Amino acid sequence: NQPVNEIADVHKEVEQWAKNQTQEITRLKDLERYRKEFVGNVSHELKTPIFNIQGYILTLLEGGLDDPKINMLYLKRTEKSIDRMISIVEDLESINKLESGVMRLRVESFDLVKMVDDVLEMEQMMASERKMQLVFDRPEKPVLVRADKKRMMEVLTNLVTNGIKYGRQKGFVRVTFYDMKDHLMVEVMDNGIGIDKGDLPRIFERFYRVDKSRSREQGGTGLGLSIVKHIIEAHKQTINVKSEADEGTTFTFTLEKAK
Ligand code: ADP
Repeated sequence: NQPVNEIADVHKEVEQWAKNQTQEITRLKDLERYRKEFVGNVSHELKTPIFNIQGYILTLLEGGLDDPKINMLYLKRTEKSIDRMISIVEDLESINKLESGVMRLRVESFDLVKMVDDVLEMEQMMASERKMQLVFDRPEKPVLVRADKKRMMEVLTNLVTNGIKYGRQKGFVRVTFYDMKDHLMVEVMDNGIGIDKGDLPRIFERFYRVDKSRSREQGGTGLGLSIVKHIIEAHKQTINVKSEADEGTTFTFTLEKAK
């Protein structure tokens, strides 16, 4: 009965090998599809500002140059389109660094209360324009965390600006800390337009935007949340989102407390 056993073993090995091959092929196909989608998305996003700039310059060349008012208007529009291209390219660079693991975190201890104060102060103007309130359930004492300061600033800025961008007039964005014994939990909550259940699982994907025109109008690239998630995961922490359409959205993420 020994040869039979041996045949059975070889059979099992071949089966396992075939299974691994199939998995590898699926992985490569996914990668290829992802690569194509990514290149498609990047070129699509860049095309809009490039064509806009082309249009502005043509208008100027075809006579607009003689009119100082039109001159100013179209040069301003050109500058805005260039700003947009710069922010797309900068976001892509961040994603690239985060994904290839080139980005080294410079972890240090710092006071998160001060950082939230700074972020809210910077975003105050954008909030006031929409008559929105920025609220901070501000702890009286410093709250020390261990993280990469610059990256954490990026995370908070992204979540707060999203709260404003997708908020409603006279709405609010609120930041709250929860001391969870072995870590700190940070909550950024708004009472804005919310996100449909169907879109919710996809919002951390690169370029995913629920409402493309609204996002673009607000200067969005659809890359912000995917950068945020990468940064949190690089810190070996987690981020979650809860949302109800028309009611609001709440992001929570964890951070290491400094001892
Ligand atoms: P964007 O640059 O478009 O803001 P993000 O990656 O930051 O890209 O967010 C992806 C999408 O998730 C947004 O386009 C928007 O549709 C949705 N979203 C993000 N934050 C919120 C929020 N606070 N409220 C409602 N929708 C949001």
